[in-house]
Amino acid sequence: MTAPRILLSQATVTDAEENAVLRALRSGWVAPLGPDVDAFEREIAERVGVDHALALTSGTAALHLALLRLGVGPGDFIPVPTMTFAATTNAIAYTGATPIFVDCLTDGNVDPDLLLAAVDTLQREGCSVPVAMTVDLMGRCVNYHELENGLAERGVELVADAAESLGATLNGRAAGSFGRAAVFSFNGNKIMTTSGGGMLVSDDLELIEGARYLSTQARQPAPWYEHTEIGYNYRMSNILAALGRAQLGRLDELINRRTEIRQMYAHVADDLGFRLLGDVAGTGVHEENAWLSTIVLDEDSPLTPATVIQALDAENIEARYIWKPMHLQPVYAGARGFYTGQSEDLFNRAVTLPSGAGLSDSDIERVVDALQSVLMADASPMSK
Ligand SMILES: *Cc1c(COP(=O)(O)O)cnc(C)c1O
Repeated sequence: MTAPRILLSQATVTDAEENAVLRALRSGWVAPLGPDVDAFEREIAERVGVDHALALTSGTAALHLALLRLGVGPGDFIPVPTMTFAATTNAIAYTGATPIFVDCLTDGNVDPDLLLAAVDTLQREGCSVPVAMTVDLMGRCVNYHELENGLAERGVELVADAAESLGATLNGRAAGSFGRAAVFSFNGNKIMTTSGGGMLVSDDLELIEGARYLSTQARQPAPWYEHTEIGYNYRMSNILAALGRAQLGRLDELINRRTEIRQMYAHVADDLGFRLLGDVAGTGVHEENAWLSTIVLDEDSPLTPATVIQALDAENIEARYIWKPMHLQPVYAGARGFYTGQSEDLFNRAVTLPSGAGLSDSDIERVVDALQSVLMADASPMSK
C-alpha cells in the first residue's frame, strides 16, 4: 500500500470558511458585487496599510489593470524580473508593451542595482520606461530600500507583484505597500485563497477607481449601457470574497504553520547538503510568509532538480522546479534582458518542497526521509 500523496501547497478550509460562504449564499448577494466584496477590500487594505483596494478575478487581472491605469501600452519598455511566474510578464504583453528581463540575487528576488542599470540603459537609448515591476518571490520582499528612491529619481513608477507575499514585511512595512500599486493573488495554492481571485492595492484613489471602472466593462454612469472605451469583466464574486475574509482571519495561523514547516527543513539543511531560499526565521529586516519552502542544492552536488523531484514522486510526494526564468521560455525567445546567470543557476539547482499549512509533522518527516534517501545515497557514489 502506498502512503497518501503529499501535495506541494494545498488550501486548507475550516468551519469558518464553510460558514462564511453559506452566509454569503443565503444573503442573496450572489453577484460580482456585495457587502463581502466591500468588506474584503477594506480588510486587505487595513492589513497591508494602504488606503484603497480593489477585489478582482485574479492576480493577473490586477497586474493588467495596474499597468493600464499607469498608461502602459505599445512602444513602452517595462523592466521586470526574469525569475517569476508567467503572469507577471503576460500582463505586460496584454498591454502591447515590451518586457525587459532583469536577473535576480541569490534569494531569487530581482537585483535592484541591475534593475536601475537597466532603466538607465533604456532611458539613455531614448526608450519610454513608464513603469518597472518587481516580484516579492516566494513570500519575501524585494530589497526596496534604494530601489524606491532610485526609480523615483528616474521618473519611473513601480508596480509590485506581491502575489506570493501577503503577510510578509520588510523593516516592518508590509508587502503590497511598496510602489504606486501592488497586487495579491488568492489562487488556490497561495498563502490564502478565494479559490481564484486577486486584489489591486494602492494609496492612489484615482488609480483604484479607474481600475474599478475598467474591471466592470468600462460602463459609464448613464441610465443605459454607455461605453466610451474597452473594458474588462474582472470583478470578484461576493461568494468568493466571503471565503477570502474567512481565510484572511486565519492568515497569521497559516503563516505560522508554513514557518514551522520551513524550520523543519532548515533543521536538516546542513546535514543533507542544501540551503533554503530566503531566511528561515525573520532577520529583523525580512519577515517572510514562508509561502513555499525551496531548497537549493549545493554547488558541488551531482544531483539535479529532476532527480530529486523524481525520487520524491516515487514516494508519492509532490515537489517542483522553481519558476523557469522568463528569458528561457520559448514564448519570450529573443526578448532583451540584463543577466548575471543567477536565475539560470537557481533554476538548475532549486527544488520547491511540500509547504501547505495543512501538512502534519509526520508528513514533513516523510519528505525529509525521502530527501535523505536521495541526497545521501548520492554522497557515496562508489557504494553501487
Ligand atoms: C500566482 C502569481 C500570479 C498570478 O496570480 P493569479 O491570481 O493566478 O492570476 C502573479 N504573479 C506571481 C509571481 C504569482 O506567483
